[in-house]
Amino acid sequence: MIEMRHVQKTYPNGFTALHDVNLTIDQGEYVAVIGLSGAGKSTLIRTINRMIDISDGKLTVDGTDVSSLSGKELRRFRRNVGMIFQSFNLVTRTKVITNVLAAKVPDLPWWRSILGLFPKEDEMEALKALDQVGIANKAYTRVDQLSGGQQQRVALARALMQNPKILLADEPVASLDPVTAEQVMDDFGRINRERNITVIINIHHVDLALRHVSRVIGIRAGEVVYDGGVDGVNDAV
Ligand code: ADP
Ligand code: ADP
Repeated sequence: MIEMRHVQKTYPNGFTALHDVNLTIDQGEYVAVIGLSGAGKSTLIRTINRMIDISDGKLTVDGTDVSSLSGKELRRFRRNVGMIFQSFNLVTRTKVITNVLAAKVPDLPWWRSILGLFPKEDEMEALKALDQVGIANKAYTRVDQLSGGQQQRVALARALMQNPKILLADEPVASLDPVTAEQVMDDFGRINRERNITVIINIHHVDLALRHVSRVIGIRAGEVVYDGGVDGVNDAV
């Protein structure tokens, strides 16, 4: 469970991007954070795994005060909180499976990962994750031979390899065509249901969000102006 109490974020230049945000997100929710460009969506989502430090208030995840985590604790914490970006952050000149297995690299001696010697059980797990996002047949293809939607699914499969409890996605469908964007939103939904992962997505495309998620958080100028189900959003945001 994620809890934000009176969370504020002021950037070093003095600009306050989040004002007094109060939210509770339960395990297993599929949430869209919507709002105009510059509203603070990205800032909000990035505080959850502390890519961005909050300036005031309190943020806890499963009772842990996120601001208090030291380097080692923070690394461990972030394994539970996967993150997906608009740009997929893949190594495009290598195979899909190698990218997915890269999530396991911290567990491996460096020379094994360089030689691509991944344990068989990790490879099976990677294939299972790729299957869950519908691209197991592309496992041994180079990433640069895939479409944008397929690449986003590789990023999703890589995130799943860490068995996260929470998956944060910062504009994951912004660069995709409408049909592919629907499919990727479906993939998030399936992962949310089948793995009970809390999924939180930043998305500026409101109609698309409403077709997939069960809860919407609307942000305007750094304030939460809507928090509820998909009905009633259009009046509020
Ligand atoms: P969104 O994701 O909704 O587009 P962001 O969270 O990226 O919004 O940004 C919210 C506001 O904070 C914007 O006005 C943006 O310019 C500002 N902002 C974002 N990052 C920084 C930063 N590092 N320093 C100063 N201002 C920032
Ligand atoms: P978004 O696509 O979420 O709107 P931007 O493209 O505006 O984000 O911002 C990209 C990067 O620049 C982010 O890391 C953000 O924190 C930073 N940034 C955004 N606005 C500002 C700003 N006014 N001053 C400094 N950094 C900023």
